Amino acid sequence: MEKTTLTGRIVRRDDPDYNEARTNINLSLQRYPDIIVFCQNKHDAVNALKWARENNVPFRIRGGRHSYENFSLLNNGLVIDLSEMKKIRVDKDKRLVSIEAGAELGDVYRTLWRYGLTLPAGTIANVGITGLTLGGGIGYLTRSAGLTCDRLLQLEMIIADEKEGAKLITVNRAKHSDLFWASQGGGGGNFGIVTSMMFKAVPISYVTVFSVTWDWDDFDEVFNTWQNWAPFTDNRLTSSIQFWPKEVNRIEALGQFIGTKDELKELLAPLMKAGNPTSGMVKTVPFIRAAAFFNSPGGNEPQKMKRSGSFIEKPLSTRAISALKYYLQHAPNKNASVWQQSLGGAAGRIAPDQTAFYYRNAIIAQEYITNWTSPEEERQNVRWIEGLRTSLSRETMGDYVNWPDIDIRNWLRTYYGGNVDRLRQVKTKYDPENVFRFEQSIPPLRRSPFF
Ligand SMILES: Cc1cc2nc3c(=O)[nH]c(=O)nc-3n(C[C@H](O)[C@H](O)[C@H](O)COP(=O)(O)OP(=O)(O)OC[C@H]3O[C@@H](n4cnc5c(N)ncnc54)[C@H](O)[C@@H]3O)c2cc1C
Repeated sequence: MEKTTLTGRIVRRDDPDYNEARTNINLSLQRYPDIIVFCQNKHDAVNALKWARENNVPFRIRGGRHSYENFSLLNNGLVIDLSEMKKIRVDKDKRLVSIEAGAELGDVYRTLWRYGLTLPAGTIANVGITGLTLGGGIGYLTRSAGLTCDRLLQLEMIIADEKEGAKLITVNRAKHSDLFWASQGGGGGNFGIVTSMMFKAVPISYVTVFSVTWDWDDFDEVFNTWQNWAPFTDNRLTSSIQFWPKEVNRIEALGQFIGTKDELKELLAPLMKAGNPTSGMVKTVPFIRAAAFFNSPGGNEPQKMKRSGSFIEKPLSTRAISALKYYLQHAPNKNASVWQQSLGGAAGRIAPDQTAFYYRNAIIAQEYITNWTSPEEERQNVRWIEGLRTSLSRETMGDYVNWPDIDIRNWLRTYYGGNVDRLRQVKTKYDPENVFRFEQSIPPLRRSPFF
C-alpha cells in the first residue's frame, strides 16, 4: 500500500515560527511536538491521521489552543491543528450555520452578527468553537438559549478506520446518533477529528448588559444574595460574579439580558440592595458590543496558570462560603479569583442523560482561577487551587470537562457523572484501539492488548 505523506502547512522544530506554532494558553506546561501540521482542508486532516497511524507517531488534535492542561499539545509527536480552517457559511432564512472546526468564538460572533444571528457560546474571542462545543459551551446566553452543544445539528468527523486508517463520517441524530450524543458534552479529542459543525443559530439584535461592584466587606451578603437570585431570576438573564482576594477588595457581577433596561433594572433590585454597591452600570447595546464587553483582554494571553472548577446544585451553606472566603483571604497572589456563572433556564430543561453534558441540574458553574509569572510560584498556586476545590467538594458536584484539572483523581466520574458508562460504550464502538487518547481521555471498555 502506498505510504501517506503529510499535507498542509507543516512546521518542524527547526522552523523559525516553531515557538509561536507550538505555544498554547498554559505556559506552565511547556510541550515540544516534533511536527505541527496546520490543515488547510479536511483531506490534510485525513492524511495527518493516516500518517500518524502508519508511522506509529502519537498525536493530538488542536483548535483554539485553550485547553487548561494543554491536552491539545504533546512532546515529540504530531499536532493536527485545524485553526487555519475557519470558513463559516450561513443560511439566514433557515438559521443554519456551518462552521469549519478552526473558527474562534470571535470569528463566529462577528460573522453571524451580519445576519442578525448568534450562538450561545463563551466569552473569550480566541477560544476555539470546536473544543468549546464538544465539552458543552457556557456563556452569557446560556439561560436564554442553552449550551452551545444544544444548538448542534451535525458534525463532520474523521474517525479511525481499521482498513483505511482514517474515515470521514457525518454525525447527527439520525446517523451515528450515539456519537452525536457523545459530542454534546463528552469533551474534545476523544472520538475523532471534527472538521466542521452545523448549528441552528438564534436571532439576536440588542441586549442589555450590567455590571455591579462591591468591596470585600460585603462578601457574605453579596455571595448569598447572588447565589439565591441569579439562577432563579428571569431566564432571559444570565449573569456571573467574580470574587478576588481580600487585598484586591473587589467583587464584580456582570450579566446579559434579552430585554429592556427598565425590565433589567427591576430584576436587579434584590442584588442592588445587597451591601453597598461601589459602582453600577446598565446599558442597552447591539449584541456585538456586548460580546466585546465580556471578552476580557487579560484572558486572551498565554500565561502560567492553574484553573479548576465544579458545579453547584443548591446554594452553598454558610460553612462553605466561609471556607471559600478563607481561601480568598489567603490567596497566592492578586490574580487569583473564584468566578461563578448562573445556569438553569434553557440549559436546565434538558435531562442529564439526553446529551453527554451531565450537570443539567446545576444552578451554578464555579471556576477556581490563578496565574503567576515566575516558575517558583507554581507549587503554591496549584496547592491553593486544589485546597479550595477539595474544601468545597462536600457541597459541589463534579467539574466541567472544558475546565480540566490534571490533579483530579477520579476525573472520569467527575466530568461525566452518570454518563460515564455510555460514553465508554461509544468510545469502544468508534475507537476500540484507543487511537484518540491523551492524559484524561475516555478509555474504551476493553483495552487492546497492543497498548
Ligand atoms: C481564557 C479562557 C476562557 C474560556 N471561556 C470559556 C467560556 O466562556 N465558556 C466555556 O464554556 N468555556 C470556556 N473556556 C474553556 C474552553 O471551552 C476549553 O478550554 C475548550 O476546550 C477550548 O477549546 P480550544 O479549541 O480553544 O482548545 P484546544 O486546546 O485547541 O482544544 C481543547 C480540546 O479539544 C480538542 N479539540 C480541539 N479541536 C478539535 C477538533 N477539531 N476535533 C476534535 N477535538 C478537538 C483538543 O484535542 C483538546 O482536547 C475558556 C478557556 C480559557 C482558557
